[in-house]
Formats: sequence, C-alpha cells, structure tokens
Amino acid sequence: MYKYGEKSLSRLDTCRSTVQVVMRVAIKIMDIKILDGRRNQEQQDKAYAAGYSKKQWPLSTHNVPPPKLSPAWDCCPYPIDWEDREQFTVMAGIIIGIGAVMGITIRWGGNWAMSNRLSENVFDDLGHFEIVDEKRS
Ligand SMILES: [Zn+2]
Repeated sequence: MYKYGEKSLSRLDTCRSTVQVVMRVAIKIMDIKILDGRRNQEQQDKAYAAGYSKKQWPLSTHNVPPPKLSPAWDCCPYPIDWEDREQFTVMAGIIIGIGAVMGITIRWGGNWAMSNRLSENVFDDLGHFEIVDEKRS
C-alpha cells in the first residue's frame, strides 16, 4: 500500500478538506506525490517565473489567503516522470472518478474544457487539479 511522504502531507494540509478526502482515497490506488496546495505570493511568483503557472498572483486558484484552504492542488505519479503522459492520465482518471462518486466535480489541467478530448487541450498542466463544484451528500 502506498502512502504520502511528510512533504506531500504538509502540502495536502493546505487544501480543502474535500481535496484531502479525495487524495487519501487516490493514494490507495496509485503512488502519488503532492507538489503544491495553497500558494502564497512568493510561491506563485516562482511558479509563474518558472512557467509552471500561467497566472500571476493572486489570480491562480492556488492563491487563497490563510486560513482559507486551497481548492487547487498539483500532484504527480511517483516516482516523477514528466514525460510519462500515460501515467498522468491514469492518475487524473482515478482522481476525477473518486471525486465524481463523492459528488465533487474536479477539473484537470490536461482537460481544461472538461470535454475529455485531451488532444484539444490548449495548455497542458498535467499535475494540476481544482475543485469546480461540491455537492456532498
Ligand atoms: Zn496547479
């Protein structure tokens, strides 16, 4: 059974409780590393400068002021291989599926339009996920 490392857990702590619940189920299926949750200005500036984010502070869904929790998070299959698109796609299916069962709509950076036509995705941010809507029963 897989489990998150300390860094992943501390990043997950900055995310909404629904994100935490979804990701605690996902780790049972696949080894995953959490790369980011909430981002402060310094972290957002860094992500923007490095090209990981297209948005400048405070426009990213990762940019919520504490103690608010982030509806957005970044994660990757572990061990990390950014070229392994297939692994990212499997991970996305797992995460989005868990969310759907729980009444949580999740958008993935590999499918911004939520059309499931991955070849039409305009900007690949394969590690990015965000809660779009929550209707937990
Ligand atoms: Zn992100």
